[in-house]
Amino acid sequence: MPTDERRMVCVAYNQWVIIDTKVYNLSRFKDLHPGGVSVLLDPEIAGQDATEAFFGLHRHEVLLRPQYKRLQIGVIDGEEEQIKPPQVGALSKVPYAEPAWLSEGYHSPYYKKSHRELQKAMRKFVDEVIYEDGQAREADGKRPSQHVIDKMAEVELHAMRMGPGKHLKGRTLFNGIVTPEEFDYFHELVITQELTRIGARGYGDGLLGGKVIGLPPVLNFGRPEIRDKVVPEVLSGKKFICLAISEAHAGSDVFGLQTSATKTEDGKYWIVNGAKKWITNGTFADYFTTGCKTDNGFTVLLIPRGEGVETKPIKTAYSSTAGTAYITYDNVKVPVENTLGEEGAGIYVMLSNFNHERWVMCCSSARVQRLIVEECLKWASQRKVFGKPLIGQAVVRAKIAGMIQRAEAIQAWLEHITYQMCNMAYKEQAQKLAGPIAFLKSFSTQSARQTAQDAVQIFGGRGITQSGMGKFIEHYHRTVPFDALLGGAEDVLADLGVRQAVRSMPKDARL
Ligand SMILES: Cc1cc2nc3c(=O)[nH]c(=O)nc-3n(C[C@H](O)[C@H](O)[C@H](O)COP(=O)(O)OP(=O)(O)OC[C@H]3O[C@@H](n4cnc5c(N)ncnc54)[C@H](O)[C@@H]3O)c2cc1C
Repeated sequence: MPTDERRMVCVAYNQWVIIDTKVYNLSRFKDLHPGGVSVLLDPEIAGQDATEAFFGLHRHEVLLRPQYKRLQIGVIDGEEEQIKPPQVGALSKVPYAEPAWLSEGYHSPYYKKSHRELQKAMRKFVDEVIYEDGQAREADGKRPSQHVIDKMAEVELHAMRMGPGKHLKGRTLFNGIVTPEEFDYFHELVITQELTRIGARGYGDGLLGGKVIGLPPVLNFGRPEIRDKVVPEVLSGKKFICLAISEAHAGSDVFGLQTSATKTEDGKYWIVNGAKKWITNGTFADYFTTGCKTDNGFTVLLIPRGEGVETKPIKTAYSSTAGTAYITYDNVKVPVENTLGEEGAGIYVMLSNFNHERWVMCCSSARVQRLIVEECLKWASQRKVFGKPLIGQAVVRAKIAGMIQRAEAIQAWLEHITYQMCNMAYKEQAQKLAGPIAFLKSFSTQSARQTAQDAVQIFGGRGITQSGMGKFIEHYHRTVPFDALLGGAEDVLADLGVRQAVRSMPKDARL
């Protein structure tokens, strides 16, 4: 029987529909349809090939849910599935949905075999282990599930997210894909960018973002006995840490912090009093890397959760899965051994990881902008208005052009800076890259907000609806300002970049 006739047989039953090459019986489902029964009885849909109508309104994942999969009663014999469900671990074939180095036929001088293998393993790991938990926790606000944290620890992801360094020594990284000695910032970039693909901003921070910024002072400035206890606990996912610098009166202006630490008379303890605001992972942290004001300037202390430490959740525009906390310290007794770095040299300890933190944020911003490009290209191609797909409108194409240009520019600039990081000692990075990283972060977050705004416009009402076709766009638009504020506000960083440049101006420079 020719294909068309086979399709006719199916559609003879008006409670059956065809989606792509699959036949579904809707008779028992129609009264349960969240969109109402009437749309299913529409003569354009009931008993018809409903592929276009379905994909105009639903994401592919709907078809994969067990309750809807059960409605499938057959396939159109002899036809090959055209619209394939997303495959675990697969690369997207949508143009610009992947950075160029992952796109077929393109070349890159930066990525070696181990980067490519790590990317493959990470994509599969994120799809299989993290994605579902990310969506669920972003919705219910609980902290990331321990089984995910444990699985990440098994392949040493917590350690690898700290970047290259001595803390990797002796560890088997992702079953040996890359050795500790060859692990570089491009490996870290790959990890950050793959994690970002889950498209859940609060969960991204909840997934131990506090550790990425709170542990470096312990690693680099902790006394050996403290470091050797705390680092393994944290990197194995058994204990959690956060970085507590910001206060109600000290955000961009770190020097304004007021939390005080005074020594006891015997000199064995610090007594800490004060409050910290917006501390990522603070609600569930066991350790607080805390910036304090001391007699001789600022000093950073590692404060374990205990008597006098209280944390309360702060509700922000993203999910409380991030563990954003208001912390109070009330006469907290901290052993002097918990001092990180020199007394009075705390500013240096606090600033020392800022470049890395900002660079990590650039990695994720670049990747998630690409995710939005993919969503917009797919949506604009499948959504029909006024008799043609949205992509047929020049104004929509112009918006997508801007998104692609920004995503490509940011990734290329990011890779250039990452290459410099791989070839500079830490001190040289601090001298030469603070300005460029500040500029890149500031540019990335401005671009991201433009992209979010344009994406909402392209998705229309769905772009501001928390479920369905536009759910990632709504989430992105709601949470995109986080990147423009955290880790250094956009304006402050742009200004920092210029001030750094001015400082390097040759004395004899004249027009
Ligand atoms: C969800 C969330 C999580 C956070 N996590 C942490 C954390 O884990 N640890 C931590 O210590 N902190 C954390 N923070 C705090 C964050 O680092 C600060 O919010 C940030 O530094 C900005 O400080 P502020 O909000 O007090 O803004 P302000 O310092 O009051 O600045 C307000 C605005 O003024 C402008 N501005 C300020 N100064 C300048 C300047 N010199 N030049 C030009 N423009 C300027 C900027 O546009 C800025 O956005 C978090 C914040 C949020 C919202």
